[in-house]
Amino acid sequence: MEMSEHILRGHWDAAISHTRARSPASFDRWFSTVQLDNISPQTLGLRAKDTFVRDWVSEHYLPTILQYIRFASGLALQIHWSLGDIDTPIVPPPIEDPRANRVVRPSPARPTIQRPSLPAPVASLPATSHPSPPPAPVEDPPSPLASPTPVASPFPVTPPLAPPGTSLRPAPAISLKELNPKYTFENFIVGPSNNLAHAAAQASAGGGGRRYSPLFLCGGTGLGKTHLLQAIAHRVLSEQPTKRIIYVSAERFTNDFIAAIQHKRMEAFRAHYRSECDLLLVDDIQFLAGREQTQEEFFHTFNALHELDRPIVFSSDKYPQQLERMEERLVSRFSWGLVADVQAPELETRVAILRKKAQIEGILLDDQVALFLAQTISSNVRELEGTLIRLAAKASLTNRIIDLAFVQGELSSSSRSKLLSVDDILRVVSSQCNLQPSDLLSTDRHRTTTFARHVAMYLCKQRLPMSYPEIGRAFGKDHTTVMNAVRRVEKLRTEDAQVRAQLEIIEKKLTG
Ligand code: ADP
Ligand code: MG
Repeated sequence: MEMSEHILRGHWDAAISHTRARSPASFDRWFSTVQLDNISPQTLGLRAKDTFVRDWVSEHYLPTILQYIRFASGLALQIHWSLGDIDTPIVPPPIEDPRANRVVRPSPARPTIQRPSLPAPVASLPATSHPSPPPAPVEDPPSPLASPTPVASPFPVTPPLAPPGTSLRPAPAISLKELNPKYTFENFIVGPSNNLAHAAAQASAGGGGRRYSPLFLCGGTGLGKTHLLQAIAHRVLSEQPTKRIIYVSAERFTNDFIAAIQHKRMEAFRAHYRSECDLLLVDDIQFLAGREQTQEEFFHTFNALHELDRPIVFSSDKYPQQLERMEERLVSRFSWGLVADVQAPELETRVAILRKKAQIEGILLDDQVALFLAQTISSNVRELEGTLIRLAAKASLTNRIIDLAFVQGELSSSSRSKLLSVDDILRVVSSQCNLQPSDLLSTDRHRTTTFARHVAMYLCKQRLPMSYPEIGRAFGKDHTTVMNAVRRVEKLRTEDAQVRAQLEIIEKKLTG
């Protein structure tokens, strides 16, 4: 029997969500000018605005999309492209909800697409008649530490609200579409910065060694926590396929919980997360901060699973004790098993990671270039990887090879500032003021802290492609506070020589 169009469309949607997760902002810009005309078990009919879009999408996105569909359905689809006006783009243009400062889901017909709130840094393109599309599937900026507003999870999360009358019960076992197929143990490079977390994760997946539960993986943004969590899922999925694994972001857990209350489906919700779960993997648990009711529910989920001796693994951007607005009884449970941190990788590990990524992506990368990149970008792996992909895309677009001259040119000081992140700014400013990065995101009003926070906001405005509201969201403040802070620092910079000198030191450190 032929696979129905309905099922095929489901695979297509999942493949789109999956591919988009790698770099939502770039993906959206390209796919707002592409349309799905038809899909059958043999062919995929796509329409692009013009040849430029068609070629870019074919080269940079289709391989992943097709591979995903093949993986999920066993079908090897042929592509039929046409060119012309786009009536129903795959990704509609963004709609921002100004009231909530949050992202609105564009259309009920495409439920899995979630809008990013920050634009991707856009690398410069050679002269072209195309003003709008971005050049490369670059990574979106990493989410700021301890952001008090919902942070886009690395995977587009299916909205939990089911239409009335349908079952809200989530899928019984992990669904393929929520996992990144590349986040496996095989693709994870182990070094001194992450070997404890890696070993503990392997043990959680049944790979020998003492199994700690809960296992609490913590560390800064982009250092491989999600990768490890999903590697556990992949390993268990392949070795013990009957195990019911739940991989869920704390944000998704929260949304599911709220939806369950609204639809009076708590029983199904509880069964899903408690009795029907053999292994619970919760990503970004810090998201529960300040959400008292969800914490309460999660506390009972934890207890139920713990009693059944079902393993639980968390990831968090902070150590348990540093989690703010988190119930004490939860914090203490987080440390019951093993707390294993991931640190920024050392140079050798960074080089090995780059080689691995290049191999996975089919990028030719010589040793000299790998070393140069690893030396230049030290803060986080996501940035390292994003830069490699961006360089590869640009090299292929301009018919260059990725040699040292090309890479050095691309990473010259002007473009290097584009690679900065909010985290880098927090790190440098706080260390200059003898504070912790988290102090700058806290509500502490001591003079030094307030000043450092204002300087960090000012630098975000100066150095990053961020608007006032975006900076506000990163710092948990409203945009007028940010505007005032920026003005204040600007004023002090012209009037106060000491401030000027301090800013210069910080800026020098940021430029590396
Ligand atoms: P986190 O969840 O800690 O913010 P991620 O797990 O999303 O970070 O990792 C960011 C990117 O860096 C991912 O693409 C991941 O594959 C990659 N990465 C991080 N650490 C490693 C590592 N040790 N080996 C290979 N890839 C890594
Ligand atoms: Mg993560």
